[in-house]
Amino acid sequence: MAASDFSQLIAATADTISSHADELTALDQAIGDGDHGLNMKRGFEAVRTEKDAIAAKPLPDALKAVGTKLVMTVGGASGPLFGTLFMALGKELSATPDRAALTAALGKAIEAVSARGKSQPGQKTMLDVLQPVYEALAQGKTAGAIADAADKAAEATVPMKALRGRASFLGERSIGHMDAGARSTALLVRAIAEAIEDS
Ligand code: ADP
Ligand code: MG
Repeated sequence: MAASDFSQLIAATADTISSHADELTALDQAIGDGDHGLNMKRGFEAVRTEKDAIAAKPLPDALKAVGTKLVMTVGGASGPLFGTLFMALGKELSATPDRAALTAALGKAIEAVSARGKSQPGQKTMLDVLQPVYEALAQGKTAGAIADAADKAAEATVPMKALRGRASFLGERSIGHMDAGARSTALLVRAIAEAIEDS
């Protein structure tokens, strides 16, 4: 991916997170503490301010820089988890990955998030979107189909009972609301899928 494409990818992720910050906040207000929208907006806008310097780096270093910045700026439970996701992708990927390499790297990055969060798919978290995205990627789905799978997976967290994160404190009362981190993950997946497709 060319530096200008990676720079646009960063802008696209910041655009979607910032334009949906109120929605993410409302989701986190229902079953959490209501900071997810602001946390994510702060983090992705911080990455945006350094987008050209980050994009000038080789892809692995650029992804690690994004992850490090997110850890430093997002905060909450989600900051270290999204940070881990991008840092692990940077660690796993070469400068010019093909689809198979991207799929394998996402698989490893999901394992890293899972280890960091002591969590697994099925517990109403961001992992409930990441895992189906990995599967769609492995099945050779198009960028649009992967983004649709991510949206569907976020919707599928509504009837789940939260077993990790603040929402788990609510037990049964977490049922009936979409997980905020699942929604933000789906937003990121769509922005990234569209940016990669166009590049
Ligand atoms: P906090 O919960 O500290 O307020 P945020 O509101 O920013 O942090 O993020 C909450 C989101 O983080 C949840 O919606 C969920 O998707 C994700 N999350 C929380 N804990 C975990 C975990 N242990 N494993 C995976 N994801 C988690
Ligand atoms: Mg929160």
